[in-house]
Amino acid sequence: MTASKRILIVEDEPAIADTLIYVLNSSGYRTEHVGLLQTALVRLQSTEFSLVILDVGLPDGNGFDLCRQLRRFSDIPVIFLTAHGDEIDRIVGLEIGADDYITKPFSPREVATRVGVILRRLGAPNPTPAPNSPFDLDSQAGRIRYCGQLLDLTRYEFLLLKLFIEHPERIFSREQLLERIWQDPGDVFDRTVDTHIKTLRAKLRLAAADQDPIRTHRGLGYSLQSR
Ligand code: CA
Repeated sequence: MTASKRILIVEDEPAIADTLIYVLNSSGYRTEHVGLLQTALVRLQSTEFSLVILDVGLPDGNGFDLCRQLRRFSDIPVIFLTAHGDEIDRIVGLEIGADDYITKPFSPREVATRVGVILRRLGAPNPTPAPNSPFDLDSQAGRIRYCGQLLDLTRYEFLLLKLFIEHPERIFSREQLLERIWQDPGDVFDRTVDTHIKTLRAKLRLAAADQDPIRTHRGLGYSLQSR
């Protein structure tokens, strides 16, 4: 139901913000508008939104940084607004965990359509783990069974696999995994992720030799096959 969906618009140009507010309100969404990165972060930490529309160039920072910070505590869908082609490359690379992007100038109708597509996709039944999943996650006990076998995992292997199981088919970049799993990625490197994926794969092979459920997406990251 769109009536209950609340969308945060982070955009410092009033004319663009007004257009977005108008088109989204007309489509039945509730909107809130802020013009600064810091204000947006405070609102996102304190309030439940269904989606964020995020301008890349903001007076007190850029949308990429906000998205990175946001991804530490939220899976909320993010649509970037971008004015430059070179920004698109970064967004498309999924390095910052965006769901979609819209280039300026944009048609208001297109924005409403994209928002609708993403929210419908999220609203669709998507139980985790997916039905028929060979994974059985017990978060409380910190245990994961795979094909009926209890896995003997280190803390980071467990956290990695748990994240994948909770988001079947979603591609996580190394940077996203570092930020989400290692929290303080200051002293770890990209290969830390690769090393843990490697040991995790080896343990999954011990449980089911003919399966390789963790997929490598060249240049993008890793995902877990849902069945
Ligand atoms: Ca701007």
